[in-house]
Amino acid sequence: MQTEILKIDQNSIEKAVSLLLNSSVVAIPTETVYGLGAVGTDSVAVKKIFEVKGRPSDNPLIAHVHKNYDLNKLAEIKHDYVYKLIEKFMPGPLTLVLDSKGVVCKEAVCGGSTIAIRMPKHDGCQQLLAKIDMPIVAPSANVSKHTSPVKAIHVFNDLNGKIPLILDGGKSQGGIESTVLDVTEKVPRILRAGLITKEMITSVCGACEIAEHKEGDRVKSPGVKYRHYRPKCDAVLFENDQTLEVIEHYEKALKEGKRPYIMCQSQFEQIFNDKNLLLLGDTPEEIASNLYDKLLEGEKVADVIIAVAMPNENGVFAGVMNRLRKSCG
Ligand code: AMP
Ligand code: MG
Repeated sequence: MQTEILKIDQNSIEKAVSLLLNSSVVAIPTETVYGLGAVGTDSVAVKKIFEVKGRPSDNPLIAHVHKNYDLNKLAEIKHDYVYKLIEKFMPGPLTLVLDSKGVVCKEAVCGGSTIAIRMPKHDGCQQLLAKIDMPIVAPSANVSKHTSPVKAIHVFNDLNGKIPLILDGGKSQGGIESTVLDVTEKVPRILRAGLITKEMITSVCGACEIAEHKEGDRVKSPGVKYRHYRPKCDAVLFENDQTLEVIEHYEKALKEGKRPYIMCQSQFEQIFNDKNLLLLGDTPEEIASNLYDKLLEGEKVADVIIAVAMPNENGVFAGVMNRLRKSCG
């Protein structure tokens, strides 16, 4: 199969819609990462997503809808705070887990009773969703366990020959996947950290819990138990105050004839000044936005990426550290 990359516009959106309506999968830009979409009611198409990615069959997909879509068509909204969250954060990088009404096929929700729903903020993506006016289920558009794509070329590098079309909507500005929030109970609970933070949710709902995923637990959000986001080279993670250990590890790699790169906040540039660097930026939002892009740049040039942890896990850093731990094992 030939994989085409087209800039997202009226023509390419029409092409994508017609492919989707014919049970194809299409890669689409969103403001978090690129998604691999299929019509959510079409089980033939949805099965293709799992095949193309090599995704474990017990990891459910997020349904993406346009900003005027009535969520009540897909799910039961039981608690008033959910409407406040929708008002404040949607469209945006927030995914709500709700009790499903069974409209989206069972393959997409992996036979579960809940459904995860999001309204992406990306303009082109919104236009496509409005045009098709159906839920498009989509995981990230990468081979399972590899680093998530934030540019059309990243999708191409993973899925060339396996899908017909990639819509190019520029670099995903958010850079990490959406916050997944279980809103089926009285208090909202974060299943996966992201750009909509615990602090932001608490300010709207008055409370917010974080799900603990412990070894051996029956996991509520299956995706979190898998190894994830790995670049193709080795990657190790050091604490924020371990700059000496980072340099030692770097020198050791050099001696072994390897090409090491240090991935860190830009403020470390002075300390590591004569070394190969992958600089992530300064603010938490900037760092989230650059994280996957730098990992994917790194895997092309490095044998080992030596990553430096964030100074804390507050706000957006919670999501960044969650991804860093999984990608740099
Ligand atoms: P991905 O699309 O690969 O970024 O992963 C989507 C994330 O949402 C995974 O962590 C899934 O486990 C989670 N998810 C999707 N649907 C549900 C659901 N119905 N209940 C709980 N978590 C879900
Ligand atoms: Mg993914």
